[in-house]
Amino acid sequence: MPTIVHARYALCAGAPVDDLALCVDGDFIVDAGSLSELAARYPAAERIGGDEFALLPAFTNAHDHGRALGTLALGLPDNFLEVWLGHLGRLPSIPPYLAALYSGLQLLASGVTAVAHSHNPSSWPSLPSELPEAMRGYADAGIRVAMHPPIIDQNLLVYAERQRFLDLLPAETRDELGGRSDIDLSADEYFAALDELYSKYHDPLRHLAHVQASPAGGQWCSDALIIRACEWARRQQTRVQMHLLETPYQRRYAYKKWGLSFIRHLEDIGALGGWLTLAHVVWVEDEDIELLAERGVGIAHNISSNLRLRSGIAPIAKMAAAGVKVGIGLDGHSLDDDQDFLREMRLAWTIANQSGMAAADLSAEAVWRMGTSAAAEITFGAGAPLGLLEVGGLADLVLLDLAAITGKWAPADYPARDLLPAFLLRRAKREHLRHVMVGGQWVIRDSEHVTIDINDVEREIWARLGHEAGGQSSALDEYLRIFYRAWDADHRST
Ligand SMILES: [Zn+2]
Repeated sequence: MPTIVHARYALCAGAPVDDLALCVDGDFIVDAGSLSELAARYPAAERIGGDEFALLPAFTNAHDHGRALGTLALGLPDNFLEVWLGHLGRLPSIPPYLAALYSGLQLLASGVTAVAHSHNPSSWPSLPSELPEAMRGYADAGIRVAMHPPIIDQNLLVYAERQRFLDLLPAETRDELGGRSDIDLSADEYFAALDELYSKYHDPLRHLAHVQASPAGGQWCSDALIIRACEWARRQQTRVQMHLLETPYQRRYAYKKWGLSFIRHLEDIGALGGWLTLAHVVWVEDEDIELLAERGVGIAHNISSNLRLRSGIAPIAKMAAAGVKVGIGLDGHSLDDDQDFLREMRLAWTIANQSGMAAADLSAEAVWRMGTSAAAEITFGAGAPLGLLEVGGLADLVLLDLAAITGKWAPADYPARDLLPAFLLRRAKREHLRHVMVGGQWVIRDSEHVTIDINDVEREIWARLGHEAGGQSSALDEYLRIFYRAWDADHRST
């Protein structure tokens, strides 16, 4: 039976529309009009919504890691990325099925119905067996996933000048390096696992799951590996997602290695194209922004993570003004450690609008697109009908409690329609989400998960973790700081 979803206002591609009702049948939006028109056309349809709601396309989280709990909860406080990363491998591991299930359920409660999952394996050899488990976790949660199995083949310890780093270390700290595993997964093994996962799970029709290649970061991957990943993705008509230019030291690495910016180097090896999404891109050169737009490269913007790991502020207002496709991602590292996607959009908007009258503006409408249609495009490709309220689109919808956001004493005509994009972006929080639909199925009703009790899953995760959380060595931390500090002077000179 079809369902009619309706609200006082809707946001279509960030722009407000009055009295929009959608008819949903199966996975898709099959009709749109005013409530009275649709009620006449589909008299038997169930109706959900009302004047107290705002109707939005559901959100796509364009970059995350599906760790279930934040790294702080697992015992690791925030630090510089280069220092923080050294501790990641020592965190207590949560079984990949449970981690994906809980991550998916948390995101649905945040209005996110599609996620880019950059997998952190508990060990490289176990990657191929962990991936189907993570896929199963997201499927059971009821969320769409673009799976990014990672591969790296170089620079695990530091980005370059490995010997200089080793020379800094006292002998006992050098022994500490024995705790860091080598990369014992070859490119051939990786692409074999990727092929298998792709043939089993990649779904270009209903877009429940996509399988994509992920050379995990520019400095950790050889040119040959990046090129192979791009060729694989183009052959399979899927995508590539890669971390890039997250910190000033990654920017500096490119100049040390090639005497060029990272983006220019990726252009030289033919890696830039509409198939590619780059996560972070904080330290992009102004003159490369146009090239990113020309090549159709997507950018996953992770404002909270970039602030928490002291990486910096990405110039997304400039990127948007140049026509770069930008989507928003939580990176498992939201400001309040709670995966609140609405707050992440608010923070991205607020910080993007910098001081100085000459600075580029970023409108609320543009940020709504970065959380919906643009995020879906850079995560699932332009062919996936996600993130828009239009006939033929997948029915991934969110109803926000407009009355709760507005306040009980506000007059009935408040807020004015034109104010709505800015009003909702400034005020709406996860707690204002009432109903969330994925592909025509309600997964959240009255702010509760429909099929699974998230509390049971959380309890099981904590029970499995027990007393394991925390306790990583920090023997290398100060040497990493000393090592990269020597790059700061170079950085300022380029
Ligand atoms: Zn990441």
